[in-house]
Amino acid sequence: MPPHTLRLLLDARAARRGDAEGLARRQRDQLADMVVHARTASPYYRRHYQGLPATITDPQLLPITTKAELMAHFDEWVTDPAVTLADVEAFVADPALIGHQLAGRYTVATTSGTTGVRGLFLVDSTSMAVTSAMAVRMLTDWLSAADLARLLTRGGRLAIVAATGGHFASGAAAASLRRGRAASRVGAFSVQDPLPQLVAQLNAFDPVVLAPYAATECPFLSYSCQYNWSHVNSDWVLLEPVDADYQPVADGQPSHTVLVSNLANRIQPILRYDLGDSVLVRPDPCPCGNPLPAIRVQGRTADLLTFARPDGTAATLTSLTLSSVLDRIPGIQQSQIVQTGPTSLTLRLRPAPGTDPASAGQAAHEQITHVLTDHGLGHVRLTLDPEPPHLTAGGKLRVVIPWKPS
Ligand SMILES: [Zn+2]
Repeated sequence: MPPHTLRLLLDARAARRGDAEGLARRQRDQLADMVVHARTASPYYRRHYQGLPATITDPQLLPITTKAELMAHFDEWVTDPAVTLADVEAFVADPALIGHQLAGRYTVATTSGTTGVRGLFLVDSTSMAVTSAMAVRMLTDWLSAADLARLLTRGGRLAIVAATGGHFASGAAAASLRRGRAASRVGAFSVQDPLPQLVAQLNAFDPVVLAPYAATECPFLSYSCQYNWSHVNSDWVLLEPVDADYQPVADGQPSHTVLVSNLANRIQPILRYDLGDSVLVRPDPCPCGNPLPAIRVQGRTADLLTFARPDGTAATLTSLTLSSVLDRIPGIQQSQIVQTGPTSLTLRLRPAPGTDPASAGQAAHEQITHVLTDHGLGHVRLTLDPEPPHLTAGGKLRVVIPWKPS
């Protein structure tokens, strides 16, 4: 059973008011608990943590995990033996199930991220309850008493823009807040909508608060303050900025990547998981007074693709608008979308082993064509490159590469 939501709210408030030492202690205790759970209930972690001390409070003792590695061992990774990769893939592939929960208890989210490997993430009821508690803490930080009164009593609205659409937008982000009195005042919007349409929808909705999307692997990662820093919910998340050799990076220095440990979600433990973002931790206290660690995320920039319409005007799409539709196609292990000109795109795909490359390619072509047509870009020429996705010199995959006029 999930911890009682009221207790989570009180805990969250206490942590926000507490000192750095108290927060660090809570985080160590939560980490130790999650490691015990992972070792007990996940065959994957049991094997990987063999030989480690019985009690773990120092995260640096734990091996790194990656999406490619965890996805390759999905059935051993999950802590509920009733859930298999085949079940989740079938669930995600069925549009009739959008808005429903897998096995009646898990919300499913998909992601590609910077490595281009498709990830399937399950959000359990504890994680949903923590997401709600963190959202309430965010609201009480962001809003003046007057704003909060407007939100709760006089019809003020909260808008959430979700990255992945489909199951996630109608599930985790929205459902966690669409309860009780606030139901009609919380709107979930998808980044897959055309930008002008999204802006028009948000303007029409007139929200008091616009909540950003967070990493799918940890939906309650952080929230921003009025000084433009993101404060990490460090009572439920451990973030470790590291260099290319996974060694700690000092505060104030941009990291190569960041390791995330989600201390709430028990169905699919995420421990020292390479998120692929470069982050910088603020070395001094944030002027907003929030004691939670303040970071700036520098990686995974929201590249924009600009296309020419037949009438000469420009249409702009976010890279997520295109990449997120490919995340939902089964049988594609890696994909890369390259804009080759103002009216042309090419796709590079790496099919999963045992998949028919022709049918995966056809599905990808159809889905991208559908998105382009929705945005009035039916004239954009879309080709399939027979080559697999190209990697950067550092071995990273850029999932979407916008065209830059030279
Ligand atoms: Zn701040």
